[in-house]
Amino acid sequence: MTQTATTTDVPAIAGGKPAKTAPFGKERRYGDEELAELREALDQGSLFYAHGKKTAQLERAFAERVGARHAVACSSGTAAIHAALMAVGISPGDEVITSPITDAGSVLPILWQGGVPVFADLDPRTYNLDPASVATCVTPRTRAILAVHLAGNACDVRALRAIGDRHKLVLIEDCAQAHGCTYEGKPVGTIGEVGCYSLNEFKHIACGDGGVVVTDDAALAKRLRLATDKAYDRTPGALRREATFLAANYRITELQSAVAIAQLRKLDSIIARRRSWCGQLSERLADVAGVQLPAATNGCVPSWWFYLMRVIPAELGTSADEFAAALKAEGLPVGAHYIGRPVYAYPVLTDHSAFARGTHPSAAHDYRATRCPTAEAILDTCVMLSVNEAYTDRDLDETAHAITRVAAWFRSRR
Ligand SMILES: *Cc1c(COP(=O)(O)O)cnc(C)c1O
Repeated sequence: MTQTATTTDVPAIAGGKPAKTAPFGKERRYGDEELAELREALDQGSLFYAHGKKTAQLERAFAERVGARHAVACSSGTAAIHAALMAVGISPGDEVITSPITDAGSVLPILWQGGVPVFADLDPRTYNLDPASVATCVTPRTRAILAVHLAGNACDVRALRAIGDRHKLVLIEDCAQAHGCTYEGKPVGTIGEVGCYSLNEFKHIACGDGGVVVTDDAALAKRLRLATDKAYDRTPGALRREATFLAANYRITELQSAVAIAQLRKLDSIIARRRSWCGQLSERLADVAGVQLPAATNGCVPSWWFYLMRVIPAELGTSADEFAAALKAEGLPVGAHYIGRPVYAYPVLTDHSAFARGTHPSAAHDYRATRCPTAEAILDTCVMLSVNEAYTDRDLDETAHAITRVAAWFRSRR
């Protein structure tokens, strides 16, 4: 069923009644399940990850959920990515190809390793790395591809894997926004050598802050563990404190792991609802001219962390800013431009200001000259709708109605 609208359907910005007649459904994120796990953690008498059972339990459950042999829990998604980069040996001057539309937590860890982020352009419909562009970014200094699965939709991992294999690059998957997302039937994070997840407060599942790294490689898993714990080798009965490489303290605590265990049990229902809500929204909006809907990557079943539309200004007769303002007036939780500017425009890169003094290897790169035209066009034209598993069918009806009538109104004024 597609939504219909007439020019007599007056949007809120033109004096009509807002399409939203009641607040969006709001989830109660934490409840008795988390409390029961927390109580057990406290009753252990230790909240240290290596002395209690909760972190080990979370790691087993997480590994099983994504179908990986090993999982290492840590303090954040950024820590997970940094641990992955440490574990695979990213070293000063190494280039890591990644996406210009992502969280700073994807890119800052590259800089921590003395690495040089190199930004490839994106697919205009999936907003993920364009493999053809990635291929043109490869140089003799490239060591890894950090593939960000944006908004719960997978990259073209098969193509990225092939580029990686051809040039002997490590493929690291940033799955922070893609819990529950599958690619060719497999959860993301298991196609590359390493997959990194975030459990920060705003992701599909959360524990305040936390992260998990998954891999099938036992040696890599061991290095991931060392990387997140000051390089302490806590092999039972044989504690070794003498650091063998530059590691961090990115330990998780039993409290966070306890909450995450309970959250992981809810993941299936969270994903199912987001899939169905966003899927129905896309069906309803399929015929709305002037608005481009987010496209799932071939082979991917997305888990929609948010819903990113693009206005087509020539068809819609307006900008992302005006379209977002009109949708806001209807009562929708939207914003224009997502992160605003591509990551390569951040001062830490353009101003070479990673360190207060001295020269970071990335300073050899002129980020002011970096251009990813498609990524820039996406950011110029995109409107992000927040999505939550607690959204109701009425929320769906009213959201579809709002977008349809606002688009019709703008088109009628062209
Ligand atoms: C949230 C996020 C991160 C960082 O996770 P934190 O837990 O906030 O450190 C990294 N990459 C992406 C794509 C993210 O959305």
